[in-house]
Amino acid sequence: MADKEEDTTRVCDQCHKEVAVSNFALHESHCRRFLCLCPDCDEPVPRELLELHHQNQHAQVKCTKCNKKVERCQLLDHESDECKERLQCCEFCQLELPLSAMVEHSVACGSRTERCSDCGRYVTLRDQPEHAQMCPDLHVPDNPSPPSSNSRRTAVVCRSCMRSFPLEEMAEHQPKAGGKRRERGMLTRSAPVPTVTWLSP
Ligand SMILES: [Zn+2]
Ligand SMILES: [Zn+2]
Ligand SMILES: [Zn+2]
Ligand SMILES: [Zn+2]
Ligand SMILES: [Zn+2]
Ligand SMILES: [Zn+2]
Repeated sequence: MADKEEDTTRVCDQCHKEVAVSNFALHESHCRRFLCLCPDCDEPVPRELLELHHQNQHAQVKCTKCNKKVERCQLLDHESDECKERLQCCEFCQLELPLSAMVEHSVACGSRTERCSDCGRYVTLRDQPEHAQMCPDLHVPDNPSPPSSNSRRTAVVCRSCMRSFPLEEMAEHQPKAGGKRRERGMLTRSAPVPTVTWLSP
């Protein structure tokens, strides 16, 4: 029995694998006969499959998006990390666009304005994060401030759409406030009579 010997390994020069010493001679001669290292990627490849391996891994293929030539084994990485035409998500509108069009798009997209719900000013999407830090009317619940004076406007939340508005705009936004009518009975449905068939055993 050679139990202790089997725990020791040697690295095969041919395939760079660790091989049990007890098995090494056999492995090495097998490796010499059947394997060779791919000159392109240094991976051990069966001699007779080297040509096929080269075709599958290292043949130059064109990226269908940007037409750049890459090795076939790198195509997926190219498409997801490197390609100039890969799709990216716009940080302002979440639209997916090719990277090459993104610079122009995000300049325009970030220049759109949206109304700040705290101060009512129109702020470009690009400046929203900064504005959120310095908005003069920013609502800070944990910081007790004097009751709103004339210079401050109170924001209220519409109960039907959950958007917040300056108080004075709520009447316009919700002209029917207080007089909301429910109309019922528009549809008259005749309940179908259930038919039950009893099966006698
Ligand atoms: Zn080997
Ligand atoms: Zn290779
Ligand atoms: Zn590409
Ligand atoms: Zn956008
Ligand atoms: Zn604001
Ligand atoms: Zn509303």
